[in-house]
Amino acid sequence: MGTRADTVVIFGITGDLAFKKLLPALYHLALRGGLGVPVVGVARSRWEDGRLVATARKAVEEVRPDVDEPAFEELAGRLSMVSGDYADEGLYRRLAERLEGAEHPVFYLAVPPAVFGDAVDGLRAAGLADRGRVVVEKPFGYDASSSRALDDKLRSAFPAERILRMDHYLGKEPVEGLLALRFANAFFEPMWNREHIAKVEITLAEKFGTQGRAGFYDAAGAVRDVLQNHALQIAALIAMEPPATAEQVQEARVDALRHMRPLSLDTTVRGQYLGYQDEPGVAPGSTTETYVATRLSVDTARWRGVPFVLRAGKNLRENATDVVIGLRRPTGALFAGADSGSGSPEGNQLHLRLGRDDGLTFSLQVKSPGPDAVSRTVRVPLDLETVLGPRQEAYERLLDDAMRGRSDRFVDPRVIEEQWRIVGPLLDPEQAPLPYEPGGWGPAEAERLGVDAHPERS
Ligand code: NDP
Repeated sequence: MGTRADTVVIFGITGDLAFKKLLPALYHLALRGGLGVPVVGVARSRWEDGRLVATARKAVEEVRPDVDEPAFEELAGRLSMVSGDYADEGLYRRLAERLEGAEHPVFYLAVPPAVFGDAVDGLRAAGLADRGRVVVEKPFGYDASSSRALDDKLRSAFPAERILRMDHYLGKEPVEGLLALRFANAFFEPMWNREHIAKVEITLAEKFGTQGRAGFYDAAGAVRDVLQNHALQIAALIAMEPPATAEQVQEARVDALRHMRPLSLDTTVRGQYLGYQDEPGVAPGSTTETYVATRLSVDTARWRGVPFVLRAGKNLRENATDVVIGLRRPTGALFAGADSGSGSPEGNQLHLRLGRDDGLTFSLQVKSPGPDAVSRTVRVPLDLETVLGPRQEAYERLLDDAMRGRSDRFVDPRVIEEQWRIVGPLLDPEQAPLPYEPGGWGPAEAERLGVDAHPERS
């Protein structure tokens, strides 16, 4: 843990991320009594403080129509604006004046990556980087070399331990919960290997398209937007060797990624939903993928030969952040499987839902009623929202961590290096993606990789 922050500065306070996530997170911190410091918004737009407060109100109402007035008043009373161009040193001078007396500010860069360089240079030149922490959002570069260049830039101003790289999946309670599931239960670890597991399938599906951000999305695509970061983070949590202590989770994660082979276009299906090309901001003839499915190999004694099938896409049938662990079929011949159409019962499945509907479903074999020795599948769902109640949002947890100087839920730079190595072969291929209808599960061709064409989600 570091020293507690005494000011939060948000670059890009007028933007989409600030509206959807950061302002609501600050409100929720105020509601829990965890804010307690001034919040300075930075933007080129010349907003008065009052406009920022009104925008914060709208942002909070979007997620919480029943606004708690004292909590909102606390937030409103702490908000102020500093405006200017990111390349203009005057902006940083004014910011330094506003931060006078602040010893440990947090600078959150919620601006497009093209602005990072100017912001970091400006903070360094004004002497503000000497005492602050910086939070940067994914994407961490565009490929391995631009990611290194970004890192060099950040390190030119801030010492390594004060650079916090944000992948909000690491702040999601259900994603972090994978560690508890694996390592706080005696059921799973003995079967968590190639002897018992036939396949791991990870799905990050969005029911919606680019939501007016096609200009941003078209330069990224599903591989850079989701596969490189969120999907590989989840794969690492599934694949990692048991860390001996909480402090070693980060090392175990790096080690798991190091053992993942680079992905191959031969075992990848890229798709693009019909209608994408007509969206404003999409380049004519764009070959950006809005869907990707791929087979990942984890080259360890635990996983050799077990396919990790990853898929991510937009405009699919449902919103889902799911992991399906498919176990091998039992070898005994005592029961015939009613569902499998073959001699032996279906392999069990453990279906983990890590999104808003978080929980898990076991598929078990039970004896089919009747005289014959036949088993059939029953699905046993567990709804964790009902059991545990609502949990804190990822952005609230991570903003709180950044303010406390807690870094273990931020991304280790070695992880980013490995992630770019793994997805490298999938970046900007020449062939066009396959078209798919919005509202389905993507191109049917992906079934050859072993993706489940009609996933059951209860
Ligand atoms: P926006 O495109 O909304 O930009 C944020 C703000 O930056 C804008 O309000 C604008 O403010 C300023 N800005 C935009 N373009 C430029 C430019 N060319 N030069 C200088 N300033 C500019 O970005 P988001 O809020 O969507 O995202 C911010 C960061 O967070 C990005 O790095 C993004 O990749 C990342 N991110 C975003 C997510 C999201 O859901 N939105 C999710 C995960 C990561 P003004 O003109 O007033 O200065």
